[in-house]
Amino acid sequence: MSRIDITSPNLLLGVVGAGTMGRGIAQVAAEGGIGVRIFDAQPGAAEAARGFVEKMLLRQAEKGAITAEAARAMVANVEVAGRIEDLAHADIVIEAIFEDLGAKQKVFQALEAHVRPEAILASNTSSLSVTAIAAGCQRRDRIVGMHFFNPVPLMKLVEIVPGLATSPDVTEALVGLAKRMGREPAVSEDSPGFIVNHVGRAYAPEAGRLVAENIARFSDVDRIMTGAPGFRLGPFALLDLIGSDISVGVMESIWGQFFAEPMYATGPELKLRVTGGQFGVKSGGGWYAYTDGKRVAPHVPPPPALAKDGPRSVWIMPSNTNPAFSAQLTGVLEAAGLPLDRSEHPTSEALILLTPVGWDLTTAVCDLELDHKRAVAVDMLFGLAGPRTAMVTPATDPAYRDAAHALLAADGAPVVMINDCPGFVAQRIVAHIINVACQVASRRVASPADIDKGARLGLGYPMGPLAWGDKLGPALVLHILERLEAFYGDPRYRPSPWLKRRAMLGLSLLTPDGVA
Ligand code: NAD
Repeated sequence: MSRIDITSPNLLLGVVGAGTMGRGIAQVAAEGGIGVRIFDAQPGAAEAARGFVEKMLLRQAEKGAITAEAARAMVANVEVAGRIEDLAHADIVIEAIFEDLGAKQKVFQALEAHVRPEAILASNTSSLSVTAIAAGCQRRDRIVGMHFFNPVPLMKLVEIVPGLATSPDVTEALVGLAKRMGREPAVSEDSPGFIVNHVGRAYAPEAGRLVAENIARFSDVDRIMTGAPGFRLGPFALLDLIGSDISVGVMESIWGQFFAEPMYATGPELKLRVTGGQFGVKSGGGWYAYTDGKRVAPHVPPPPALAKDGPRSVWIMPSNTNPAFSAQLTGVLEAAGLPLDRSEHPTSEALILLTPVGWDLTTAVCDLELDHKRAVAVDMLFGLAGPRTAMVTPATDPAYRDAAHALLAADGAPVVMINDCPGFVAQRIVAHIINVACQVASRRVASPADIDKGARLGLGYPMGPLAWGDKLGPALVLHILERLEAFYGDPRYRPSPWLKRRAMLGLSLLTPDGVA
C-alpha cells in the first residue's frame, strides 16, 4: 500500500498552476475536507485562485448546499504557497500548468527536490504521456496522471493514468483521492488520448465523412443524431462549441500517435474550418452562424405535398433483420395518403420501401432485383421518433422520392432525406463509435466498465458505447461494420477483434478477455 493515507483528516494537497483547472481542483479538494496549498509562477495568480475557491464555496453555502460553518472551514483549509518549496510537506501534488512537456518535466524535477520520498506527484495533462513526464525524475514509481475535466466542479469524471513505472499502490491511492473529492475515477493506460479522447475519436470525424460524401447536410446530421439516438449535441454543434481548432488538433494528434490508424482519421472537410478561422462559437461562426452567441439553425423547407403523378400505392418489404421494422412502418403509413400494397411482390406504380440495417440501398435493390427507380429506404433501427431518415439512390425517380418524403411526414414528423450509404447516418456513426470503443477495450486501455463510464461522464454520450452495442446486439453492429467495410473497401471500418469475437460467441461487449 502507498504510505500516503488518503483518508487522513490532515491530508495536504499541493496544486501547481492556479489557472482554469488548478482552481477547480483546489475547490473539489477543499470540498472533500482536504487541506490545499496552491502555487503559481505568476505573481498574484495563486491568491486569485484562492479568492475564486472562497467565492464558490460561500456561494454554495448561500444556496444551502453546505452549511456556512462548513464553507468557512473549507476556505480556511486553502492556503497560498509563495514558493514551490512551500509544498515540501504535501502528501500529494497535482500539477496543472500549461500543456508543455519540457515545462512539466521541470516542475516535476523541482518538486522532487523538495517533497518527501513517499509523496505522490500527479499531472493533470490531457494529452501528454505520463511516462514521458516522469522520464526526467528520480522516483518514477510515484508519478501518475490525474486528468480532470473542465469545468472541474461539474465534471465528475477523473482519469487516473499510471505511467510505465508507476507503482500500483500509487494508482490505488489516487482512485481513493478522486472519490474523496467527489469524483468518479476511471483508470486508463498511458495511451494516446487516455480513455475519453480516444473513444471520442469516432463521432465528429465520421459525421465529417458523411458530409464530405454528400450523404447528408451537416445540420441534418445534427438533427438525426440529437433525435432518436439521443445525443445532447450533434457532432457539428459540438465541434463549434469546443472549437474546431482544438478538436481537429486532438483528432490529428491521436491519429498520428496511433501511426496513421485509419479508424481515427479525420478529413479535409473538418480541417478547412480551422484553416479558414471558422472555429465555432468563439470565433463568431463555424459550421453554424451565431447571433448573440446563439446558434442559428439553417432553414428546413416544408415537406413536399403528395403529387398526383407519383406512385399509386406503397409496398413495404418485410424486414429480414426485425419483422417489427416493417410492421411499425406499415402502422405509420396506413393513414398517410396512399393505399398499402399488401401483395407478395410490388405492383407496378407502387412506391417500394425497404428498412435495411447496414445495407446501402443500391446493393439492396440490385441483390433483390427490385425496381431501383421506385425504391426508397427508411432507417428503422432507432425507431420512428425524432427526425425520420429516408435514403435514395441516384436512380430513384424524384416523384417517388418526394412521395416517400410526403408520406413519412404526413403525421407531422420531421423527415431528413439523404443520399445512399450503408447504415444511413445514425447506424453508421453509432456503429463506428461502438467499434472504436471495442478497439480501446481490445488494446486494454481500460476496463470495459471504465470505457463506458468515460464515454458517459466525459463525453456525455447517452449510453456507454459497449452497453449500447449490447442493446443493439453485437452481431448487428458487426454486420453494419462489415457492410461498410465491404462497400468502401476501407480498413477504417474493419471490425475490432473485441467486437468480432464477442459477436461470434454471443457474448456481451462488456465481457473481459479470457486471460487478464
Ligand atoms: P491555464 O493556462 O488556465 O493555467 C495554467 C497556470 O499555470 C497559469 O496560471 C500559469 O501562470 C501557471 N504556470 C505556468 N507555468 C508554471 C510553472 N512552471 N509553475 C507554476 N505555475 C505555472 O491552463 P489550464 O487550462 O488550467 O490547463 C492546465 C493543464 O490542465 C494543462 O495540462 C491542460 O492540458 C490540462 N487540462 C485542461 C483542460 C481545460 O479545458 N482547460 C481540461 C483538462 C485538462
